[in-house]
Amino acid sequence: MYTINIDKKYNIYIEKDFNNIKRYLIKDNIEYNNVVIITDDNVCKYYLQNIKESFLGYNVFVYTIKYGEQSKNLNQIYNIYEFLLNNNIDRKSLIVALGGGVVGDISGFVAATYMRGIKFIQVPTTLLSQVDSSIGGKTGVDFLGKKNIIGSFYNPSLVYINISTLNTLPKEQFENGMAEVIKHGYILDKDYLNFIIDKKEEIKNYNKNILAEMIYKSCKIKANIVSIDEKEKGIREILNFGHTFGHSIETESNFDILHGQGVAIGIIASMYISYKKGYILKEDIEKAKEILKYFNIYSFKSFNIQNIYNNMVYDKKNDNKQIKIIMLKKIGQAFATNKVSQQTILDAIKYSLEG
Ligand code: NAD
Ligand code: ZN
Repeated sequence: MYTINIDKKYNIYIEKDFNNIKRYLIKDNIEYNNVVIITDDNVCKYYLQNIKESFLGYNVFVYTIKYGEQSKNLNQIYNIYEFLLNNNIDRKSLIVALGGGVVGDISGFVAATYMRGIKFIQVPTTLLSQVDSSIGGKTGVDFLGKKNIIGSFYNPSLVYINISTLNTLPKEQFENGMAEVIKHGYILDKDYLNFIIDKKEEIKNYNKNILAEMIYKSCKIKANIVSIDEKEKGIREILNFGHTFGHSIETESNFDILHGQGVAIGIIASMYISYKKGYILKEDIEKAKEILKYFNIYSFKSFNIQNIYNNMVYDKKNDNKQIKIIMLKKIGQAFATNKVSQQTILDAIKYSLEG
C-alpha cells in the first residue's frame, strides 16, 4: 500500500496483511539462513502462525516473552542470548520483532549486540510501535528503575506494518498510540493535524484506508525527523513534545496511567506555555483538548503538582538540571527551550490538570 524509505537505509512498508514480507525481504536484498521470531505471549496467540508462513522453508525459532514493560530488562536479554547460543544462531540469522514497542526495543537491542550485530526486522503490532518506536533505531531496556537507560542505536533492515493487527489491539492501547499521532501533527504538520481532526470518526471506527493513510503520514513525519538527526543531537528532541511533563506524570501516577495519557496532559501543559508566551491562541488549546478527549486520552486523577515538577528536574534529558520544554512556535512547528521559569512550569502543570 505505502512505502517510505528512511535515508536510503531501510524501508517501511505499510500493508493490510502479512502476505508480502518475504517479497520485500528479497526486494531489499536481505539475506539470511535462520529466522528467530521474538514476540510476547499476547501477540503470539494472534499472529505467530500467520507470520511463520512467511518463512516456510527456513528454520524458524520462536522466543516468547511475557507481555509488558516488566519484561524490558537485562535478565530477559541474558535469557535470549542463551536461547540464541543454545540454538546455534549465527550472524547470518534474522531476528523478527513481532509485537509492540517492548518486543521491538528488546529485539533491537539483542540484534545490535549479539555477535556484534545481526540483522533484524520490525513487525510492529501496536499503533504506538507502528508510528513511533519501530522507526528511528532506538533500542534498549530499563535498568535499576530507569527507563531505556541501557541501549544503543541500531536500525532494522526493514519495518513491516500490517495495519490489520490493530483489530485485536485493546482499545486503550490504540488510544495510547493516538497521543503520538496527534503529537506528530502539532510538532511538524498542521495539515496532518487537520486530517486527524476531520477523519476522527473514521479513525475511531478503524476504517482501513484512513488508518493506513494516517499511519503512513505519521511514519513519514517521524522518518523525516530521524533522518535529519539520527542520534538526537538536535531537531529529534521535538519528538519529546509533551513528554517531559508526560514522563513525570507517569512516574507520579506510579505508572497507573498509560504513556499516552501522560503525554496528552503534557501536550496541554506545553501548549499553555506556548500560549502564555504569545505563540498560539487559547482556542488552539481548546481544540487540542477536544481531539485528545475524543480519543479518551485526556483523562486523569488528581496529582501533586510539586511532585510532577520535581520529577521533571530529574529527567535524564535535561542539561544541567534546566528543564527542557518543547514548545510550539505555531501549530505544526515546535522548538526546544530551557528558558521557562519554574513558576510558568508550575502554572502549566496546574492548568493541564484542570481538564
Ligand atoms: P507493548 O509492547 O507493551 O504493547 C502493549 C500491549 O499490547 C501488550 O500487552 C501487548 O502484548 C499487546 N499487544 C501488542 N500488539 C497487539 C495486538 N496486535 N493485538 C493484541 N494485543 C497486542 O507497548 P507499546 O505501547 O507498543 O510500546 C511501549 C514501549 O515502547 C515502551 O517500553 C517504550 O519505552 C518503548 N518506546 C520505544 C521507542 C523507541 O524509539 N525505541 C519510542 C517510544 C516508545
Ligand atoms: Zn511517547
